[in-house]
Parts: sequence; structure tokens; C-alpha cells
Amino acid sequence: MSVQQNLQTVRQNIEKAKSNALKPSKELELVAVSKTYGADVIQEVIDEGQRIFGENRVQEAQGKWPELKSKNADIELHLIGPLQSNKTADALALFDVIESVDREKIARTIAKESAKIGKCPDLFVQVNTGLEPQKAGISPDEAVEFVRFCQDELSLPIIGLMCIPPADENPGPHFALLQKLAQQAGLKGISMGMSGDYETAIALGATHVRVGSAIFGARDYT
Ligand SMILES: *Cc1c(COP(=O)(O)O)cnc(C)c1O
Repeated sequence: MSVQQNLQTVRQNIEKAKSNALKPSKELELVAVSKTYGADVIQEVIDEGQRIFGENRVQEAQGKWPELKSKNADIELHLIGPLQSNKTADALALFDVIESVDREKIARTIAKESAKIGKCPDLFVQVNTGLEPQKAGISPDEAVEFVRFCQDELSLPIIGLMCIPPADENPGPHFALLQKLAQQAGLKGISMGMSGDYETAIALGATHVRVGSAIFGARDYT
């Protein structure tokens, strides 16, 4: 299957999931996750009209996106992987949205660095809905309070919540929890659902689905 065909299938599945959902979110964005893929195949996806992309590493994104962005108008690049303090200035320069705000320290660093350059990407707070020790994210119990802290103390533009459910669990309860927390926090954005479960996420109110391998094919990390 070509990436063109894959993208078309994903778009059709999204429309189907939207029309089947009880309360689909009005705005639903497809974030095409291009990590590990080269500029050539990413350009093919851009040529199909896709404009929103996700990358999980700052350094990898720096190697391909400055040129892709300069060649293509209206690209919106999302950072969906963990952010280190020493990469924050680089991330603010390249990314339009950061979905992985996951601790107080990084929130403070984003506030400080964005004040220096006079702009800040839109931000999502990552919630560790499965309370997995190896995974980044604020615990569900502290998520609403953390959003308030980021907004009130740091004046950060938090627009939503993001989660990555445990790989070996039914994602439904995690998606439902994220939706509930976003509502409690008064946030519109809900980033959830990947290649294996974006239709479920849409049924449960996702505003952003992050789909990689279903568009680009299986990843090769070697
Ligand atoms: C890689 C990745 C995705 C996309 O995963 P696929 O299963 O390839 O769709 C989504 N979200 C995050 C945070 C990722 O790192």
C-alpha cells in the first residue's frame, strides 16, 4: 500500500468513526506522526494535503523539518515526545504545538524560554492515565491542579490534555478518563488515539488523533 492510499483509508475511517460517535468532537485533527521517516515520504504526505505532523524527538525533527517547513506553507508541527530542559529553546523555535508538558520543571522552563522569544506554542499537558512508572505524564489525580498552575502561575497557553494508554490494556477507560479530566479542567483539546485505536478515541471525544504507522507503514528503528 502506498502512503497516499494509507492516508485515504485513515481519513475514511476517521469520517466513519465521527459519524458513528454519539458526541463526536466538532474539531477533529489528524496528526500524522512522521518519526523515523525521511523527508521524501513526508513530502508525499504533505502533497496529499496533510498539514499537521507529529515528531517525538527534538533533534530528529531539527534534521528534517526546517527545510520541509520552508518549502511548504501552513505546516503545524507537534512535539509528542518527552522534552528535556536543555532542548526547550530548540523545541520552542521549531514546534507549533507541544503535547508533552509533563512536569513542573519543564513548564517553568517553557515559560522562561518563551518569555525570551516573545511567543509560546500551544501546549497540552500529558497525563499518565495508566500510572506507568516508565511513562511520562502527570498523574490523573494531579492533572487538573497542574493545568491551573500552568495557566495561573505561569500564564502558559494550555489548550488540552494528551495521553498514551498502556500498550497492553483496553484503551477505552483511559480515553474516557482523559475526556473527563479535560472537561474538569475546562480544556477543549483532547489528544488521544494512535494507529491501533484512533477510532475508539474518536468515539470517546478525541480532538486530535496521532497516527503514524497506519499512514507511513511499519517503523524501522535500525
Ligand atoms: C509514535 C507515536 C504515535 C503514533 O504511533 P502509531 O502506532 O505508529 O500510530 C502516537 N503518539 C505518540 C506519543 C507516539 O510516540
